[in-house]
Amino acid sequence: MADPTQQSTLPSFKQTTFTQGCASCDVQNRIALRNAGKRARCGKCGKPLGLVGPSYSIAVEERSFQEQVMESRLPVLVDFWAEWCGPCLQIAPHLDAIALEYAGRLKVVKVDTETNAGLARHYRIRSIPTLMLFDNGEMKTRATGALPAQQLHAWLQQALAD
Ligand SMILES: [Zn+2]
Repeated sequence: MADPTQQSTLPSFKQTTFTQGCASCDVQNRIALRNAGKRARCGKCGKPLGLVGPSYSIAVEERSFQEQVMESRLPVLVDFWAEWCGPCLQIAPHLDAIALEYAGRLKVVKVDTETNAGLARHYRIRSIPTLMLFDNGEMKTRATGALPAQQLHAWLQQALAD
């Protein structure tokens, strides 16, 4: 029996790392989740990787939003984000973990607010990251900001239960 006091602070998330490919030498760098959203260098060739974060999800555009989100058979967690947004990169690995953990029960997608300004306007996105849960073509609930992993998970469970 594991000592409950030694439980991870991320009990629901199985992943503690993600991989980031290096464009210079092609090696896959294994990076701790806690370093997502920070700048990193390639462990092999030393070239900068830039701001690191996993590509966890399907990128949805204005033209695919109807099909991918509104007509989805599964509930959809939509992450409104942008490349320049540090907190968005921080939250990305947690969304990646959620996408894996909820595979078959929930779809996780991202909408780049820079290239999809119409969607951002339509949903009145004032700051990012903004997360929305859609079910049966309806937006059920939304949350703004890079929630810590446990809060994010609690929010999602509540949203899915409602
Ligand atoms: Zn490299």
